[in-house]
Order: sequence, then C-alpha cells, then structure tokens
Amino acid sequence: MKIAVIGAGLGGLLSAAALSKEHDVTVYEQLDMYGGRFTNLPYKGFQLTTGAFHMIPHGPTGPLALLLKDVGADVEIVRSKPEGTVLMQDGKLVSAMNFVDVLSPATKLKVPLLAMKALGQKTGTAADFLKGFPDMLPLADSFCGWALSATAANTPMEEIAAILKNMQKYGMPGIPMGGCSGVVDALAGVVEDNGGRINLSTRVDAVKVEDGRATGVSVAGQNVPVDAVISNIGHQLTSKLYDRKYLEPKYAEVLTKVKPSAGIKICLAAEEPLVGHPGVLFTPYTRRVNGINEVTHTDPSLAPKGMHLTMSHQTLRSADMQQEIKLGLEDLKKIFPGKKYSVLMVQSYKDDWPVNRISSGYDLGNLTPVKGLFVVGDGAKGKGGIEVEGVALGVRNMLELFEK
Ligand code: FAD
Repeated sequence: MKIAVIGAGLGGLLSAAALSKEHDVTVYEQLDMYGGRFTNLPYKGFQLTTGAFHMIPHGPTGPLALLLKDVGADVEIVRSKPEGTVLMQDGKLVSAMNFVDVLSPATKLKVPLLAMKALGQKTGTAADFLKGFPDMLPLADSFCGWALSATAANTPMEEIAAILKNMQKYGMPGIPMGGCSGVVDALAGVVEDNGGRINLSTRVDAVKVEDGRATGVSVAGQNVPVDAVISNIGHQLTSKLYDRKYLEPKYAEVLTKVKPSAGIKICLAAEEPLVGHPGVLFTPYTRRVNGINEVTHTDPSLAPKGMHLTMSHQTLRSADMQQEIKLGLEDLKKIFPGKKYSVLMVQSYKDDWPVNRISSGYDLGNLTPVKGLFVVGDGAKGKGGIEVEGVALGVRNMLELFEK
C-alpha cells in the first residue's frame, strides 16, 4: 500500500516506522526538521526542546518504550530515581511516593478507601472527586499541571483512574539518553532503513477524498495518489484539509467543543543543581509553577560541562501570557531562595503548538469520517496515556484499525 503521513512529530514518526516495514510510506513535514514538539533545540550549549521536558512518563517499561522496541528503534531510557519529591508549604521536601505522610490525620485514614474508589470512578472531574479533601487538591493540581498541563477541575476523573492503572502497570518516569532527539532520530533512522521517505519543508495542503475514501494528498499543487493517509496534526487541522461535505455533523460539533491544553515552560541554567535529582519536583503550593525537572542528572550531555538544565512547567491559568510568565518567574525565586541560576528561555505553548492538541481525557480516537484517513498524536491518545505514552497507545490503536 502507498501511505502518506502528514507531519513528522512523534505520532507521525512512530506510525511511519511501524508501517514502513510492509508499506511504501512517505512522511511530509512542513518544517525543515522532524520531531514536532518532541525534539531538541540547541541553545547556548544546552539541549532545550521544541516542547517536551525530555521525560518519558513510564520510562523504559512504558507504552512508548515498548513500541520503540517493536519497530526496532534503539533508544536507551533511564528510569528516574527518586521518581519525585514534593515541596511542602513549610519548605520541606517529601518523597512523591510517600506524599500520604503529609496529609491531615483525617484524610490519611481515608486514603486506602479513596484510592480504591478512584480506580473505579467513571464520572465527574478530579476536583469533584476530591471534594471534602482540601489537603489533596493542591497535590492533584500540581500533578495534573505537570503531567497534563491541566487542572484537577478540568480533568475527568475517569482519565485519572486510567492513569493510575497505567502507573501500576507500566511504572514510573525515565529520561531518554540524548533527550527527545534520542527518540526521534532513532525513529527517523528506522523509517529510512525500511525504505520510507521523510520530506522536510513540504506542507500537505489538502487530502483528496473520493466516494468518502482518502485517495491522495496535495503537495506543492500536485496530487499524490495514495491508498491511506495518517495525519499527525490533530482532528481539527486535519478536518480543514478535506471537503466539508464529508464532515459528519456529530463529529463537526465535537470538533468545536474540544480544546487544546496550553502551558508555559521556563528553562534555567545553573552550576549547582537546583532540584538535585532526575525525578520531578512537584510544587503544589506555588501560585503558578506545577513542577520542575533537572534532566542533566541522567544525561549530562544536555548541558555544557559542569552545568545543569532545569525546566519548570505551569498550565496556563489566564489569557494574560505576560502576567502568567511573571508569576511563574516569581514562583521560581521562592522555590529556589538564594540559589544562583539564569533564565535561558521562556516558551509558551497554545493554539496550534500547544501542550496537547486536545486536553487529556477528551481525546477523539484515530478514526475520522473519511475512510482510510486516520489521526495520530496527542488529541488521538490512548486511554490513561500521559503525554507521549498516550501518543504511543494511540498509534498502537491506529495500527490495529489499519489492519482491519
Ligand atoms: P506534533 O509534535 O504536533 O507534530 C506534528 C507535526 O506536523 C509538526 O512537526 C508540524 O510542523 C507538522 N505539520 C503540521 N501541519 C502540517 C501540514 N499541513 N503538512 C505537513 N506537516 C505539518 N510529553 C512527554 O511525554 N514528556 C514530557 O516531558 C513532555 N513535556 C511537554 C512539555 C511541553 C511544554 C509541551 C508543549 C509538551 C510536552 N509533552 C511531553 C507532550 C509531547 O511533547 C507531545 O504530546 C508530543 O510531542 C506530540 O506529538 P504529536 O505526534 O502529536 O505531533
């Protein structure tokens, strides 16, 4: 089969690496580089990124690691130890695995029952679920902010339940050696070794549909005939590439309702470590910053010799980007009092370059109203899949649907 992949982000590259084993695959990428929001951005000797924090939510045993292995992409992912710490209101640090110790005695008693109930919860948001447990809410917001760029109030509890099950099944985070580029370079190598092509600086302007089936893509004014199209650009942007007459009314209505998740990343350079370990520092009691990591404990090559790369994340709480950035920078001063660091870069993510194309828990799956046109990437994540783990689960789902 002849397959076109629109976009060389992680979802597009994973799909291309898997499908190019048996099919004739061409990836079209509008930018002059592949990787989308999951690749390195070299700056002043540091390996910053186009999006991600160089972190893989379930480390070397998660859905992404398993899919990379299956497609033959050689990537070393190192589990973070400790997994994380939590900065308490009084400035003390506690292990993220023992956060229960810091709850009020009344809440602590109820945690085992609450945890069991959480795994089966199907309705409401995480904030609804935690009503009556005010000391749990900042922790939930910090987790949702760091892991999903969302708040407890806009994350469905059903998704949190699926995330908790995936944590039990797949384990805790890790860092790929070489950072995000370590992953996407390996995938691009597999695509090329399989005889596939990655055409950079090549935008797809339209998907040709005949009798409800995708039959081609339009590139630089030329129609390229294909048997199937995999789109890595989300459901909304994909729907703009084909004739509106194929948009089913129900699907079109859902597209107007789902929203991307937005966020701000602040990249710091420091000689002395700020976090002090490769796991996540959760910050539930700040005004904006949700969490911070310091990947150079695992891979020192991500910063110049003797330096650390530390990155904070905050979900976007208002439309006033400048004010949100100011609050984030103020938080960092309070989190690291007296520590020496410099701000390398502040990056904001929203609209067509967001944290997630569709906020976690509202993903729309891989199918579109057009036969032979599938969507992958965030916005088409698998259930309970945090960030790139969800992208990998979604690609697995697509591959199963593709075979049918
Ligand atoms: P994208 O990265 O969106 O790629 C789509 C590609 O399609 C782009 O390259 C784009 O240029 C191209 N394209 C668009 N339109 C066209 C067209 N018409 N023709 C051709 N090409 C086109 N996840 C983690 O697991 N761990 C983290 O630490 C982490 N941290 C994050 C921090 C931030 C600040 C952000 C923003 C995201 C983070 N994520 C993290 C999420 C992760 O980066 C994304 O989920 C993932 O990279 C999304 O990949 P994707 O496959 O959806 O494609």
